[in-house]
Amino acid sequence: MSVAVYPGSFDPVTLGHYDIIERSADIMDKLIVGVLNNSSKTPLFSVEERVDMLRSVTRHIPNVEVQSFDGLLVDFVRASRAKVIIRGLRAITDFEYELQLSQTNHVIAPEVDTVFLTTNLKYSYLSSSIVKEIAQYHGDISAFVHPEIARRIEEKMAN
Ligand code: ADP
Repeated sequence: MSVAVYPGSFDPVTLGHYDIIERSADIMDKLIVGVLNNSSKTPLFSVEERVDMLRSVTRHIPNVEVQSFDGLLVDFVRASRAKVIIRGLRAITDFEYELQLSQTNHVIAPEVDTVFLTTNLKYSYLSSSIVKEIAQYHGDISAFVHPEIARRIEEKMAN
């Protein structure tokens, strides 16, 4: 059975992330979306909220699971019995960091490979930070996230 992990901060999940999830779930038997609980970043949403939002938008995809993790990504990948890490590539600017990350992970865990999916052109400009910035000024974010996620962002910004 082919099992992959798609790791990220997902603070919050955008339509760009969702596109990568749908496409990788289609080519793998099982996809685990790994939500990083990163203590060095201050996220807008707690890890529990991010997991919950991802579960709500992926509920209808039977081979997708959402879990949080902390520590080394390769440890989470091994514990999940996965052999593949999925990452999305938006632009050249993503490339250098992603290359470094995948090569480092491959040295630490030679049995694990990283597979890159290029972004859907529609979402190549899209990031969680941009969505948060627009929402902060009460701009319309409906083209960037699922309606349920837009509702939660607006609710968070109102507090
Ligand atoms: P990280 O903090 O690891 O960069 P993100 O949540 O920002 O986590 O992104 C997780 C993964 O999703 C990364 O591989 C990133 O390149 C990819 N990604 C982010 N936005 C998009 C997008 N608009 N289209 C395709 N892939 C994306």
